Amino acid sequence: MSKYLQLIAHPKELRAVLQWAIWHEALHPRDPSKESDNLKRCYELLAFSSRSFAAVIEELNPELRQAVMVFYLILRGLDTVEDDMTIPNPVKLPILRSFHEVLTKEGWTFNDSREKDAVVLKEFDKIIYEFSLLKPIYREIITAITKKMGNGMADYCEDEDFNKKGVDTIKDYDLYCHYVAGIVGEGLTRLSVSGGSADPRLLENPHLHNSMGLFLQKTNIIRDYHEDLLDNRKFWPKEIWSKYAESMEDFIRPEFAEAGVYCISELVANALEHIPDCLYYLAAVKEQTMFNFCAIPQVMAIATLELVFQNKKALTSHVKLRRGTSVMLIMRATTIRETYNIFQEYCHKIHARNSPKDPNYMRISIACAKVDQFIEAVFPTRKEVKEKDATEEKAEETASPTEVLIIILLFGGTLVLTSSIMLGVAWYFGARFDLAFAAIKEGIFGIADATRDEL
Ligand code: MG
Repeated sequence: MSKYLQLIAHPKELRAVLQWAIWHEALHPRDPSKESDNLKRCYELLAFSSRSFAAVIEELNPELRQAVMVFYLILRGLDTVEDDMTIPNPVKLPILRSFHEVLTKEGWTFNDSREKDAVVLKEFDKIIYEFSLLKPIYREIITAITKKMGNGMADYCEDEDFNKKGVDTIKDYDLYCHYVAGIVGEGLTRLSVSGGSADPRLLENPHLHNSMGLFLQKTNIIRDYHEDLLDNRKFWPKEIWSKYAESMEDFIRPEFAEAGVYCISELVANALEHIPDCLYYLAAVKEQTMFNFCAIPQVMAIATLELVFQNKKALTSHVKLRRGTSVMLIMRATTIRETYNIFQEYCHKIHARNSPKDPNYMRISIACAKVDQFIEAVFPTRKEVKEKDATEEKAEETASPTEVLIIILLFGGTLVLTSSIMLGVAWYFGARFDLAFAAIKEGIFGIADATRDEL
C-alpha cells in the first residue's frame, strides 16, 4: 500500500510509471511463440531470479540476448552455491572450482541447495542445453569468466579470516568487488565487443569495466550494511570503519549514528571515485539495447549513493529507491547525454548536502567536482547555456532601434496628453495664456540680450 501512497505523493513519478506501463515498447521484442519450451523455461528462471535484470536482458538485441541470459543464469547458479551456508566447504569448494566444466556436462543438476534461487541449480540442465546452442566465441567467454569467478569465490570461502572478520583493507575490498562484480564486467564487455555492440578499444582498458562492476558492487555493499550484518556478513573494509568505531556493529547504536554517517561518507567518496571510468565506459557502448542494459544499473547506483549519503536510516534499516524514481531513471537513461545529466544531478545533490563538519568533506567535494569536470569536457552544456543566457540578458539590456522608437513615442505621447489636459483645465479656470507667453518671451530674450551684452 505504501508503494501506491508514495506514487500519489510524487506525481511526476506516477506519471512516469503510467507512461512506462502504457507506452513502453521494446526495440527488439522477444517472440516466445518462436522459442522452444526449454528456452522459454530459461527466461522464466531468469525472471524468477531477478526481475530487474530479466526486464533489461529480455530487451537486448537478438544477437546477444540469449548469450547474456545464459551468462546471467550460470553466474546466478554459481552464486547460489557460494551463498548456501548449508553446503559444507568440502562439497562446495570443488563445485565452485569446477563449475566451468559443468557447462559441458549434459544433464547436470544440483539438488542440495536451500537457497532462494535453488531452482536454477535444480534445472541447470536446461541452462546447459541453451549454452550448447550459443556461438563458440560466446561459450568461450562465458567459460573463461565462470572459471575465474568460481575460483575467486572458492578462495574467499576458504579464507577463514575473511569469513570471521570480513573485509580488512581497502585493497582487499577492491579485490573482493573485482571477483564478484569486476569479472562480470569483463564478461559482458567481451560479449558486447564480440556481438558488435561496443567499441573493441574497451578491451584494451580493463580498468574501465572493472570500475563499472566495482561502482555497482560498492554501492550495494554500502546500502546493505544492516541487512548484511543481520546475516553475519561484513563487507565494509575495516581500514575504513575502524576510523569511526571499535566494531562495525557499533553503528547500529544511536550514539554512533553520527560516526556511522561519516563512515558512509568515506565509503561513498571511495565509490564516487569510480564514476569517471564508468562515464568513459558508457560512451563506448554503441548499440542502444546494450547501452540501456549497462546504463540503467549505473544510474540506479548513483541515485542509491545519494540516498544513503548522510542518511542515518541506512544504518538501521534497508533503504531503497522508490519504484517511481527507478522507473523515471530507466526512462531517462537511454542516451549518453541524459545519463551524464543524471550523474551530474545526483552528484550536485550529494555536494549540496556535504557538510564541512564531515571529515570526508574535501574528498567528497573533489570527487563530485571530477564528475562535473569529466562531463563538462565531453558535453560542455553548462558553458553553452551560460553563454546563451548571457547573450539573452545582454539582448534584454540593449533594446533594438524599433523598441527605442516605440518607447520615445509612448513617452512623448503621454507627455503631450498630460500637458494638454493640464493646460485645458487651466484655461477652463480662466488662466491668461497671453500674459504668460509675453512674460516667457521677455524673460528668454531678456536673458539672451543680457548675455550678448556681457560678451
Ligand atoms: Mg554471493
